[in-house]
Amino acid sequence: MLKVFWFRKDLRLEDNAGLREFINSVTDKDEILFLYIKNKNKYHYYGEKRINFLYESLNELKNDLREKGFDLLITEGKSPEVFKKLKKENPAIEVFANEQVEPYSIERDKEVKEIIPSFQLFIDNTIFPLGKIRTDEGNFYSVFTPFKKKFLLLLKGECAKQNCSLDKLENTKQFKSSSLKEFSIPETKDEIFKGGRKEAVRLLNIFCKEKMTAYKEQRDFPGEYGTSLLSPHIHFGAIGFREVFRAAQHKADKEAKSEIEKINIDSWISELIWREFYYNITFHKPHIITKSFKPEFDKLKWEWNDELFKKWCEGKTGYPIVDAGMRQLNETGWMHNRLRMITAMFLTKDLFMDWRLGEKYFAEKLIDLDFSSNNGGWQWSASTGCDAQPYFRIFNPVLQSKKFDTDGSYIKKYVPELKDVDAKYIHEPWEFETELKEKYNITLGKNYPFPVVNHFEIKDRVISEFKRIQQKKFE
Ligand SMILES: Cc1cc2nc3c(=O)[nH]c(=O)nc-3n(C[C@H](O)[C@H](O)[C@H](O)COP(=O)(O)OP(=O)(O)OC[C@H]3O[C@@H](n4cnc5c(N)ncnc54)[C@H](O)[C@@H]3O)c2cc1C
Repeated sequence: MLKVFWFRKDLRLEDNAGLREFINSVTDKDEILFLYIKNKNKYHYYGEKRINFLYESLNELKNDLREKGFDLLITEGKSPEVFKKLKKENPAIEVFANEQVEPYSIERDKEVKEIIPSFQLFIDNTIFPLGKIRTDEGNFYSVFTPFKKKFLLLLKGECAKQNCSLDKLENTKQFKSSSLKEFSIPETKDEIFKGGRKEAVRLLNIFCKEKMTAYKEQRDFPGEYGTSLLSPHIHFGAIGFREVFRAAQHKADKEAKSEIEKINIDSWISELIWREFYYNITFHKPHIITKSFKPEFDKLKWEWNDELFKKWCEGKTGYPIVDAGMRQLNETGWMHNRLRMITAMFLTKDLFMDWRLGEKYFAEKLIDLDFSSNNGGWQWSASTGCDAQPYFRIFNPVLQSKKFDTDGSYIKKYVPELKDVDAKYIHEPWEFETELKEKYNITLGKNYPFPVVNHFEIKDRVISEFKRIQQKKFE
């Protein structure tokens, strides 16, 4: 029998549920193959930085396997075609992988299952099987807090480590495919975010040691680096979700020195549960891939302005905090959560443009692009999602800026035109045209843009459009 372990969003050899089952299933008579398929899927957007990160993670996985005497076949193509070829070479084939939730992944897995009926999937990407956390009446949760309560209530041994030592496979024959071409990974660029398990473990250790116990107090300040920066690694599975969850539980149970430290750690645990919540939303309501979670809001008359959208994308809106966020995204492939909310709110409310445009732009740029969290975050900001920000609570970008980047250090880092500007002018430069000109030789409209919209003028229009839809719903 040919036994294949198919790596997908689980690029690691440690604590990997599917890999463990695969190892346990192998007998002396089997041949084995470790496989990764570089797939081009119509819904996948692969920004350059994300690809780079993926390549680094794959390179490290390949090396880790090589050190233990195994090969990783990386091949390019459509998964069903790859498995057809493998089955032709060896009709007695079994395939093991970990579950994914996105509707297009489910579709792909169905196709593979038709080709390889023995294809088995395991729970690794979430703590609970999707759909398990339900209300007492058996319904799914569309509100986060009760979901979290039920999650914590049910949590027992789900985070236990899944040992997967490869020693057992030491003498197993490795299958060499004659029909699948090896994809050679191009040289990677030196980016700010580095892929691979070593980096993921390093970041988790630093976060546990230095930041987790102050997370709640610091997580909203983009200049503070108070978050874990683990999202790209969690997404590609270089570090497992159980692993990070266990680390937080260990810290809370064994190392927290005070109630305040515990509250901070719990706040990180909550964020991890948000991920699981959004995965469940995708599982129960896959229509969100193209539509609003609340269908009535697909009747909103969004606006479209090519030039304004381009300014938002490039970080040239004239609102320094928005521009800093978008430039961080463009430069690094990552954006701080507070900024994701501010920039998404700005596009969907201040510019009143369809959340799907922003979702797609983030998808093209983010290294950590994760369908469920991205869609969840966008629909939260646009007020079209489950447990979303109410449509009448529109972030004021200036107040957000003053509150979360008080000294302007984050803005100065990503908007170099304003790097010398004093904090008292930096959040709303249009109010200080004279000072900017006299003190820093900055002319608005020349060195830095005037604001593209007046935040106070847009608010009523947005609220009345949302109200119109809501009234229609009840008519
Ligand atoms: C518009 C918008 C788009 C987003 N797109 C993505 C995306 O594509 N991929 C993604 O991983 N996250 C996304 N998020 C959620 C969040 O911004 C990132 O997970 C977080 O900024 C990653 O930084 P970190 O690893 O330092 O997070 P930490 O604060 O250290 O949190 C730890 C982990 O918890 C999870 N997490 C934290 N916050 C959230 C959240 N609000 N929703 C879901 N999971 C969360 C992530 O896996 C994160 O790595 C989005 C949020 C918004 C508002």
